[in-house]
Amino acid sequence: MIVSFPSMFSDELFYSCCARYHNESGNAEVMQTLDDLFGMPHMVFDPSYPKNLDYLVAQLNNIIDVNQIIYEHTIFPLFVPFLNRGRVDHLYKMFRGEGKNYANHILGIKNNLRITSLKYCRMCLINDDEMFGTPYWHRSHHLPGVHMCLAHHVSLESKCPVCSAEFKPKKGNLTRLNRYCENGHDLTKVIPLNNFRDEHIELMIELAQDVSFVCHLDEHSFNWSEVYEVGLRELGYCGKNRRVNLTRLRNDMQKAFPESFLARFDCHFNDNGDWLTSIYLKKQTIFHPLQHLLLIRFLFGSISELVVRLKKNDPIGQNSNVA
Ligand SMILES: [Zn+2]
Ligand SMILES: [Zn+2]
Repeated sequence: MIVSFPSMFSDELFYSCCARYHNESGNAEVMQTLDDLFGMPHMVFDPSYPKNLDYLVAQLNNIIDVNQIIYEHTIFPLFVPFLNRGRVDHLYKMFRGEGKNYANHILGIKNNLRITSLKYCRMCLINDDEMFGTPYWHRSHHLPGVHMCLAHHVSLESKCPVCSAEFKPKKGNLTRLNRYCENGHDLTKVIPLNNFRDEHIELMIELAQDVSFVCHLDEHSFNWSEVYEVGLRELGYCGKNRRVNLTRLRNDMQKAFPESFLARFDCHFNDNGDWLTSIYLKKQTIFHPLQHLLLIRFLFGSISELVVRLKKNDPIGQNSNVA
């Protein structure tokens, strides 16, 4: 039984809370912490896809709700609207501890969605340190596609601006966010490296807003191929015979989203068979949530505008269990 587990802060990544637990537990080895929390001393703690959460909740005598961890402190909610019910259930059970952890297989997507570096916003760090006595890793800074802090509109940092010590989730380690880097530089005082104006700042902010919106959605079942067909028809990309003028669509999307911007999310149009050719078709194929969000932004303005339309019963298909 774990005697005390830190309360999770608002928007804290679950991994962050475990790293704080490790720090405060006095455990000399991370293995001991992983055994305390998950009963798995040798597990690799992937901040993107935690596992064995039911074990932790039982250790804590159910004082934490497993759904609160999954929905408020992991990147899980970003995938839910874009996967079919079976895959969502599989992923959910996997987080709780059933079945093997092969999230990438379930998601059908490569590593580009994983959390490979830990990022912070200097303003959030200062605020959290003042308000809570400790900074922490925010979930909103680790969602795929997010490179900016939405609260402060600044680029996120993944290394110390003075000594370039990188913040990464490492095997056999639980990396906590501290006010000081491992070489003692005060992160509240140093000027961030990414202080220059990002050339894609507006698009980055809009995409971060879309990602954040999805994570707080309560409606999850959309028939995307029907939704896209309506949008493509409205904008004149789809004729009566349901054929899509793909060349024009691709050209117009490239005008809306520069190639250099798309490449930052692995969403450019000219490799891997080009995602745009099939995302709107009625196929059980899995697409990167960011690809959906970019197409939605292009067709409907943004996911929030689309959801308003859907809630007004605008005649766009809504259907259970079809992704
Ligand atoms: Zn911030
Ligand atoms: Zn440093």
